[in-house]
Amino acid sequence: MSESQQTTVAIVGAGMSGLIAARDLRRQGIEVLVLEAADRVGGRTLAETSALGSRLDLGGQWIGHGHHRFEQLADELGAARFQMHTPKTPAIFDGAQTVSPTSSPMLAANAALVGAELLSRIPLAGRWNTATVQSWLRKIPSDRARRLLGVLVEITSCTGPEQLSVRAFLELIRYQGGLQTMMKSRGGAQDSLVTEGAGTLAERLAAELGARVRTGCRVTAIRQTADGAVLDTSAGGVEAQRVIVSVPPPMTKHIAFEPPLPAERIALQRNTVMGTVYKAIAVYDTPFWRTRGDAECVLLGQPNVAVFDTSPPDGPGHLCLLVGGPAARALDDLDTDGRRALLLRQLARHLGDDVEKPASWHEKSWHQDVFAGGGYTALPVPGTSEGFYPVASAPTGRIHWAGTETAAEHAGYIEGAIEAGNRAAREVAKTITHESQTKAH
Ligand SMILES: Cc1cc2nc3c(=O)[nH]c(=O)nc-3n(C[C@H](O)[C@H](O)[C@H](O)COP(=O)(O)OP(=O)(O)OC[C@H]3O[C@@H](n4cnc5c(N)ncnc54)[C@H](O)[C@@H]3O)c2cc1C
Repeated sequence: MSESQQTTVAIVGAGMSGLIAARDLRRQGIEVLVLEAADRVGGRTLAETSALGSRLDLGGQWIGHGHHRFEQLADELGAARFQMHTPKTPAIFDGAQTVSPTSSPMLAANAALVGAELLSRIPLAGRWNTATVQSWLRKIPSDRARRLLGVLVEITSCTGPEQLSVRAFLELIRYQGGLQTMMKSRGGAQDSLVTEGAGTLAERLAAELGARVRTGCRVTAIRQTADGAVLDTSAGGVEAQRVIVSVPPPMTKHIAFEPPLPAERIALQRNTVMGTVYKAIAVYDTPFWRTRGDAECVLLGQPNVAVFDTSPPDGPGHLCLLVGGPAARALDDLDTDGRRALLLRQLARHLGDDVEKPASWHEKSWHQDVFAGGGYTALPVPGTSEGFYPVASAPTGRIHWAGTETAAEHAGYIEGAIEAGNRAAREVAKTITHESQTKAH
């Protein structure tokens, strides 16, 4: 793409949101060009094939309760879904010890969570914007309870308690329908999975769009003109009538806007950061641990890890490991073998030594991905009132904003990415129809 290319709608980003917007517009006969910086589509979703031939997700994977758009998309694209294998209550281990649900640290942690849940129902601002979760945790007398709550923050928000304001944490709880929904597998945010991998859905959407999706095409500038917009990309110029930007707010910093963005959008760029998260999937011939017990657990250790049994119904065995916040960044100091040994050694104590011998090991440090920027989502930095869900999506002239963070429902999830893509496509289709009618008169 060396010469300037013309299209009706240029879409920045081939994650789920951008691809859905493109599909919706194409279905209405509107020409699109999806410009993706990475050399693959999917953004914060990414499916891989294991050594045993099964598909797995290194990015977004779970279909949460009420994520109907996501379910429908999987069905439309011919991908099978299955419910998670999950115990009623996941185990909590502190090193070699099992933490009893009736132990005093657990009761203290639960009491703090009930308090957080109640507080999350009240609109908060002022000092709650600046007070960090860490300062709240300091008030909890038990060290183990503090560590338990710390790991919960790391896994649900992908940041450390010292980097998250109390308001941001409480809003996350409120927005996601309460802690129960956020943490629960069955009937909660981790209800079911796509057998072929959620990342496969993005691949299938892109395949439908064919040459209308350009990978390795980073948008560096967007200039709005009287009758359209001109985009500079790493692979040449593009001219369009309208633009949909589907990248998360902090990642829009890397695009030069002309005229400059309004103050509120600049504040949104500046006052949000992407979360820090490491995810690994270990694959085994069978979910052998089930003869001894369930795998879903939280490990308080070095690092803290959340473990889920994501095995597809007819095998093989898949264990999903999540590390969030500063602990995820600390793993960057090790190589793949070092990370695998460190994480699986902790787990072997509880699931048996065979856990240290996976048939294949798949991992991704999302904060190292320069184009995704991190995950699960963009977060408000302490001290700001910007970046709470859903972030502003009112168009800026000819630029329309998509991406999961802008979703009116289920922001932060794949469901939200789809909803935001649908909404941005509706917005654009309306303006284009209006403009062509005006021209015709
Ligand atoms: C480890 C992890 C686990 C998760 N787990 C779940 C889960 O279980 N369930 C769930 O629902 N959600 C989950 N999520 C969140 C979910 O993946 C995201 O909400 C969703 O994929 C976001 O889609 P999007 O299209 O809004 O954004 P993205 O997927 O971020 O898409 C934006 C795209 O823009 C591209 N881009 C960036 N800058 C430029 C530029 N300048 N020019 C061109 N292209 C650019 C990026 O490369 C990217 O492809 C998880 C995320 C992560 C990282």
